[in-house]
Amino acid sequence: MSDPDDLPAPVDVLVIGSGFGGSACALALVEAGLDVLMLERGPWRDTVPVRSMGIAARSPLPRGRRGLLRLVRTLRGRWLPGGRATLNRHGLFDIHLDRGLHVVCASGVGGGSHVYGGLNERPPDPDYWNGIAPGLGAADLEPSYQRVLARMGSRQPLADDQLPNMLGARLGANPAFVTDGVDGELTMGLAFPETPGQPRKVRTADGVERWEARPGEDGVLGSAGGGKTTLDFAFLARALQLGLKVLDLCEVSTIEHGADGTYTVHFVNHHSGRREQRTARRVVVAAGTLNTLGLLLASVAAGGLAPMAGLGERFGGNGDFFGYWKLDDVARDLSHSVPARGLLRLADEEALGPGRAWPMIAEGALPTPASLPLGRRIARLLSGGSFVAGMGADAQDGVVRWRNGRLRIDYRPDGSAIFARIRDAFRLIGERSGRRIYHFQTPITVHPTGGACIGADADHGVVDIHGQCFANPGLYVADAAAFAKPVSGPPSMSIAAWGDRVAQGIVVATG
Ligand SMILES: Cc1cc2nc3c(=O)[nH]c(=O)nc-3n(C[C@H](O)[C@H](O)[C@H](O)COP(=O)(O)OP(=O)(O)OC[C@H]3O[C@@H](n4cnc5c(N)ncnc54)[C@H](O)[C@@H]3O)c2cc1C
Repeated sequence: MSDPDDLPAPVDVLVIGSGFGGSACALALVEAGLDVLMLERGPWRDTVPVRSMGIAARSPLPRGRRGLLRLVRTLRGRWLPGGRATLNRHGLFDIHLDRGLHVVCASGVGGGSHVYGGLNERPPDPDYWNGIAPGLGAADLEPSYQRVLARMGSRQPLADDQLPNMLGARLGANPAFVTDGVDGELTMGLAFPETPGQPRKVRTADGVERWEARPGEDGVLGSAGGGKTTLDFAFLARALQLGLKVLDLCEVSTIEHGADGTYTVHFVNHHSGRREQRTARRVVVAAGTLNTLGLLLASVAAGGLAPMAGLGERFGGNGDFFGYWKLDDVARDLSHSVPARGLLRLADEEALGPGRAWPMIAEGALPTPASLPLGRRIARLLSGGSFVAGMGADAQDGVVRWRNGRLRIDYRPDGSAIFARIRDAFRLIGERSGRRIYHFQTPITVHPTGGACIGADADHGVVDIHGQCFANPGLYVADAAAFAKPVSGPPSMSIAAWGDRVAQGIVVATG
């Protein structure tokens, strides 16, 4: 343990995690002139934008011969010795396998923006933020949505963009499907080339270099050229210019609330292998829903934080249910495309039966076969098929617990009607297209929500309408762990908007 006299002075705010919640929050805090330190367990990624930002230590995205070794950072499950195995601290994905629900997220400066499908949507229900707690409503979040969407440069694709292998264009001849307009209905955080088909290197308003989007280059294995808008350059480049300090490869283990009201954050610095600590007047936890819950639960168990009633409860998977659509297309390379390219809908609106609305099902490209050495058979599956992602309102009735140093999820998918609806929709798509959708039985979510929910008071939630924990003043939750209900669609813009709102609350509170 270091001598307290040697420790740096407390910062105004320490932000844990650099994904959508953490980056949006940190930028708004430094814009307001606060002294902010960000800790991120993963590395800066080696991309054209990050190089142009002058970041010296960068880790490659998983590509080429050694790419498979860089795919997975951590594997977690109650059956593993110690509950987890860290395979490669520079790995991209974090996979938690558990009872009834598996969770996948990313690691690295910029968090999930490196691996996500680029969908920049508001909640499908415009009333999403209404009725959660008094004093919070859709109008309160609106300025934050506008700020984050503007920073992401999001827009819907146009026919003039001439994007290859879009959904509507491919389904065009099949009257069983809705095809009109589906190619342009999703809002994306991609820099579409100004001259269609001729991507160029461009410079952002913050002086960062990036390539315009290139088909097949900006998907779930990351965007080395910067065609997909990632948070490291879209939010953090500006935040660094305004004084944000980012410590990469620093993995937080616990948070401790001191008698003087400040917080001490304990972490392992993976650059040196040493245990270190920093103090802050306020701490924002934005480690991604499941990791945020793990940190809070571990800190309570270690006696660092006051117990929080309801912590870990009301956890869910946003109804996420993934499938592989085996199109067996030999005429085209379907991976040569943008990561998400339309919503799958049948023309028959009653196809699922009375009272069973069609769920949101996005269709998208798989990684290009050239990106990793996967063998000829898998390469054919990647280029000849696509992924389908169903989403909707699950019951958000799972529980996340911390037992003997292990994080475990108890979730019963049978309690959520959405999964049966999506499975039936997959079956119908298979029947009407003549090409089957394959899926696992256990849902896999990339959009976990809840566990530290917003509520009116400590009897109804873990955090207040500004994200501050009732039981631990000065501690905030700025990711979807705070969401009291599933977004039922892609949530990253809602998480970023919430992170921005949490920052506005802190700015007001610090005077
Ligand atoms: C394959 C895939 C596709 C997706 N597609 C879409 C999409 O198209 N649209 C959409 O809206 N959403 C999509 N998502 C979901 C989206 O990525 C997440 O909702 C989003 O990243 C969550 O933001 P966050 O800030 O909560 O957490 P994250 O983005 O996960 O960021 C959390 C950060 O905290 C870091 N961290 C974790 N633990 C610690 C610790 N102990 N110490 C320090 N740092 C820590 C992590 O390394 C990570 O960088 C997708 C996700 C995946 C996996």
